[in-house]
Amino acid sequence: MTQHEIAIGRFENSFAKLPDGFFARHHPTPVSEPVLLAFNTELADELGLETQALSREELAQVFSGNRVPTGADPLAAAYAGHQFGNFVPQLGDGRAILIGEVRDRAGRLRDIQLKGSGPTPFSRRGDGRSALGPVLREYLISEAMHVLGVPSTRALAAVLTGDRVLREGYKPGAVMTRVAASHIRVGSFQYFAARDDQASIKRLMEYVIERHYPEAEHAESPALALLQAVIERQAKLTAQWMMIGFVHGVMNTDNMALSGETIDFGPCAFMEAYDPDTVFSSIDQFGRYAYGRQPGIAQWNLARLAEALLPLIDPDEKQAVELASAAVSDFAPIYHAFWLDGMRAKLGLVEAHDNDRALANALLDGLQRTATDFTLAFRRLAEVHRDPSASPFLTLVGHDAVLIDWLADYRARVAQEAGNPEARMKVMNKVNPIYIPRNHQVEAALSAAIEEGDLGPFKTLHGVLAHPFEEIAGFEAYTGPAAPSERVYQTFCGT
Ligand code: AMP
Ligand code: MG
Repeated sequence: MTQHEIAIGRFENSFAKLPDGFFARHHPTPVSEPVLLAFNTELADELGLETQALSREELAQVFSGNRVPTGADPLAAAYAGHQFGNFVPQLGDGRAILIGEVRDRAGRLRDIQLKGSGPTPFSRRGDGRSALGPVLREYLISEAMHVLGVPSTRALAAVLTGDRVLREGYKPGAVMTRVAASHIRVGSFQYFAARDDQASIKRLMEYVIERHYPEAEHAESPALALLQAVIERQAKLTAQWMMIGFVHGVMNTDNMALSGETIDFGPCAFMEAYDPDTVFSSIDQFGRYAYGRQPGIAQWNLARLAEALLPLIDPDEKQAVELASAAVSDFAPIYHAFWLDGMRAKLGLVEAHDNDRALANALLDGLQRTATDFTLAFRRLAEVHRDPSASPFLTLVGHDAVLIDWLADYRARVAQEAGNPEARMKVMNKVNPIYIPRNHQVEAALSAAIEEGDLGPFKTLHGVLAHPFEEIAGFEAYTGPAAPSERVYQTFCGT
């Protein structure tokens, strides 16, 4: 090991062994004065990294890109994508660099990627950098998603670079290290499909099957089996987002991972008052990626994946189109089944009865009409089982007459099941979080860090979000929606 090398683990670099056209080998561009802001020691341990003996300075050197770890083969990956419905044949990692993959303690291969680590051959007009705000936002929200039980890329480190980046004015720059099951996206397939490079599509398909869907290898048509498996995972993932009020904000095809993890936390935010039209992103003028449109968009993105896979699904084009269309159509019933399972759990229902979907929808209609906080509604509803007066729930919904009737229907439905009320409340509180990353809290934490260099609010919020289902005395400020004066209506992309 030379003086400049630093060992953090054993890299496997399987993506770097793919053909040349898949990526550009590229090193991070050094930064002036890296300072470690956050490091996820639990995740480092899960990954089996040997970072325990490293100082904060050394960690800052590695996770800013200033020192490339021993055995890594850094690269920027090529991909294309539909951005807001428009196809861009070349996007690629313009400000991200895949350092390499490590095998975690469970034996799974995980990508370690730096984001904001300098320009790459895919940067187009971008500076290859990230501002501190979006880095801390991704750190908070991706970790929150994980503890909420939603598959997500993880946050390993956040490092201040000591350099400024020009966004709306100059902002402190930072590098985010994220860990993903892989960074292969729908847009990775589209990249080769746009070039009619069938050999590369096949190679990428084999790679994805080996890494994420080994059961598809022996199917009659591995490409169709892969498509079906990806559809199933995305349907489940989208349903999970809907259960917690998550609005991704930029569901472009380059931001949909084949692994089924939530990826690319740009202008994402959590809905407060229930409303399917909820949009936060400043660039989503027409509400393409509104909360309620997410399932439809997921299906649209999967249709783009299906198109890219067509020639591999069946040599007969007509047959391939039929098979692929059927698989994409199946997204709807699969999604609806996951949604209903999720809603039953949120309502504390164990059995499946015919009217459950109508019961759930009637509640949502009531919440929308009364502009009730989606997250709090289910916590207050759980209390109904302990306190027959249902006072907290009724207060929350403003004693709405229709919801009072709905509550009677709900009680009647619950009465058809066995189980004791206290236990039902507990079970409901295990799936309905009390703490979510509320946008005004997230923004306050980011502003303190950006404007005053104060990481206190970020750390407090991160700590609160680490246990989203257990209410802790003294943290009431984190349980409720923003007051009108605190409300944040718009979020901005990291770009
Ligand atoms: P995103 O909005 O983060 O999904 O990024 C969309 C595309 O723009 C990707 O190809 C990114 O790599 C690229 N990109 C975003 N921000 C920058 C930047 N600051 N510098 C270079 N490329 C960028
Ligand atoms: Mg992206």
